Amino acid sequence: MADKIKNLKVKYLRVSLLNGCNFNCFYCRPSGVRQMASANKGEFEKFQMAIDLFYKIGIKKIRFTGGEPTLYGQLVDLITSTRMLGDDLHIGLTTNGLLLDKLAPQLAGAGLNSVNISLDTINENKFKKVTGLDRFNQVLAGIIRAEKHIQTVKLNCVSIKGINDDETAGMIDFANQLGVDIRFIEYMPNINNPDDRNRYISGDDIRASLPYRLRPMAKQPTGAARYFRSSDLKIRVGFINSVSHPFCDSCDRIRLSSDGRLYGCLFSGESIDLFSLMEADAQKPLDQIRQLVGRKKYLGCAGALEAPDNLPSFINLGG
Ligand code: SAM
Ligand code: SF4
Repeated sequence: MADKIKNLKVKYLRVSLLNGCNFNCFYCRPSGVRQMASANKGEFEKFQMAIDLFYKIGIKKIRFTGGEPTLYGQLVDLITSTRMLGDDLHIGLTTNGLLLDKLAPQLAGAGLNSVNISLDTINENKFKKVTGLDRFNQVLAGIIRAEKHIQTVKLNCVSIKGINDDETAGMIDFANQLGVDIRFIEYMPNINNPDDRNRYISGDDIRASLPYRLRPMAKQPTGAARYFRSSDLKIRVGFINSVSHPFCDSCDRIRLSSDGRLYGCLFSGESIDLFSLMEADAQKPLDQIRQLVGRKKYLGCAGALEAPDNLPSFINLGG
């Protein structure tokens, strides 16, 4: 099997476990859809089979996302069974942090290596405006608990013009006090909503507005973020400039949605029905996976601004 997919470029699988969420971040869903935790949930055994297949073909990193992955009832079991594949696999989670205060110890015990917690503001009123819920303090408790139990914790903040672009320095101070790295992600406008395009602001503009002298780290970690340090800070500050500086030519990601479809890119719209193909024969999808990866278009997440309208939304594919 190894031979058959030797040249496969993907090393990083992102699995969206469900498309429901306990938050209502205005920028994440197709326009007008307010979707709570009802949602499409993927079947446990099918996820296990898919993860097993990808591990065999050389995936080195897996991230559980959603919707909100902590609402997936078998999350801890899935991390446990994924960890059993091997200690060489990095297992990460992206979450809004609301349930981490309760779950962090179990997640760590199951073998989770890292957690990225999404936090767009530290202003409680704004938090409610962005997420639809008045739960900033519960998320803060989750961050603190995660830090105690989970090896690596990072904060992810989507920079949105007119919403939180005046708060970046404050967010960095906040992260610095907690001792966790923070990354600023360029907002990818929802193509179905023209107003959204005005909310985009580049990572370079955000960085230029900061009072810190941020120096790029000489040795950059692998991944989408470019990291900076400052003598005033103990943490690293990262920028994920997917729109202004697309990293498509080094992209090694592939994405599985909760309904079992495999996508090469957030912005290509092209997918294969992995779960159905695996039902017939667990090894059968190899050729289709290779073809899908081969057709990744490397449009750039800048493609967000001119992408076709049949794209899965972030809440379906995990951002
Ligand atoms: N619910 C989890 C969370 O919020 O972390 C995981 C799923 S969420 C879709 C994954 C990430 O996508 C979050 O960090 C979120 O901020 C980001 N995201 C959602 N919509 C986005 C957009 N339009 N542009 C940039 N990032 C977006
Ligand atoms: Fe939910 Fe995450 Fe989307 Fe916010 S960004 S609505 S927390 S899935």
